[in-house]
This record gives sequence, C-alpha cells and structure tokens, in this order.
Amino acid sequence: MPSRTRLTTKKRRELESIFHKHNFEDYKWINPSKIVVSQWVRMKCTFGCREYGKTASCPPNVPSVAECERFFHEYKDAAIFHFAKKMEKPEDRFNWTRKINMKLVNLEREVFLSGYERAFLLFMDSCCICGECSGDRATCKEPRLSRPAPEAMAVDVFSTVKQVGYPIEVLSDYSQAMNRYAFLMVA
Ligand code: SF4
Repeated sequence: MPSRTRLTTKKRRELESIFHKHNFEDYKWINPSKIVVSQWVRMKCTFGCREYGKTASCPPNVPSVAECERFFHEYKDAAIFHFAKKMEKPEDRFNWTRKINMKLVNLEREVFLSGYERAFLLFMDSCCICGECSGDRATCKEPRLSRPAPEAMAVDVFSTVKQVGYPIEVLSDYSQAMNRYAFLMVA
C-alpha cells in the first residue's frame, strides 16, 4: 500500500482560502511528526490544574499519552493557529476563547466537508462552551462541538510552536499578553 504524502502546494492554497474565508489569517503549517507529545504535560494537567476531572474534554476524559502520540503519527499535515490577547480581567478569558473555539469548529467542519475526512480540531483553550461543564464525556452537553485543547492531548505547546517561529512564554500575571494556539489536524 503506498504511504501517504504531505499536501501539495495547490491543496494547501485551497485550504488557506478556507482559513481566510473564516477570518483566520495567523497560521502556520507543521509536519505533525514535529508535534511534541510529553508525559510532563499530562502531569501538569493531573496535578495543579483546577480543571482536572471537571471538564469533559480534559484529562482524565481524554486518551492516554501513548494514544495521543499514536493519533498525531496518523497525520501528515496540520495547521497551527495563533491568537494573542492581553486580558483586562482574568474572567474575560473564557468569553474570548469560547467565541474563537466556536468559529474554529465551523472551520473544521468546512475543511472536513471539502474532502478531508480526518480533519480534527484541538481548541485554543479548554472547552468552555457551556456555563457549567458536565465533567464527563458520556454526559457532555455539546458532544458534536466539544474538542480537547492541545495540552489535554499531552502536546508540549511550548516546544512545538517554537519550532515554527511562534512566540510563547511563561506568564507571571494577567497584565501580560497571552499567546494561545489551536491545532487543526488536516490529513
Ligand atoms: S461542551 Fe459543555 S459539557 Fe461538553 S466538554 Fe464542553 S463545556 Fe463540558
């Protein structure tokens, strides 16, 4: 069986016109073999994150780290979308990220309908579609819309986005601009 190859320039341009149609202008292509998956990311979710066990698309309601790694190895092309913002108040964060994630789901759908059956989105922040999360996959209130964030899939976002020249730093308080990233696994 022939091995799958990366997208041609023509195919990428077609996809980029869909990205632009949805007003996403700041993105970079990445070979998914460069996406860094690490156990330490899962440890950070398990110990120290208040969303652990409370969000239906965060650990432990996600695949194991080994399964995440296998998932990324099944792709040959992905796009990383960059979003930067300085928050007036910490509580504004999820209003901002919810709106973007909903637009990204629409983008994923259009890419899928364009013939990319593997299209799968990783949100740019944990799923916060609902005012109150069910906390469990089986009872998720919007199962067609919810997606995991890259960190929930054990992606070392720091190491990964630096490889394509995107900025990211540890922030010490909300007065600093945050850089967040969504991943669209394409083909
Ligand atoms: S869609 Fe709602 S219930 Fe499902 S993971 Fe997101 S916030 Fe939780």
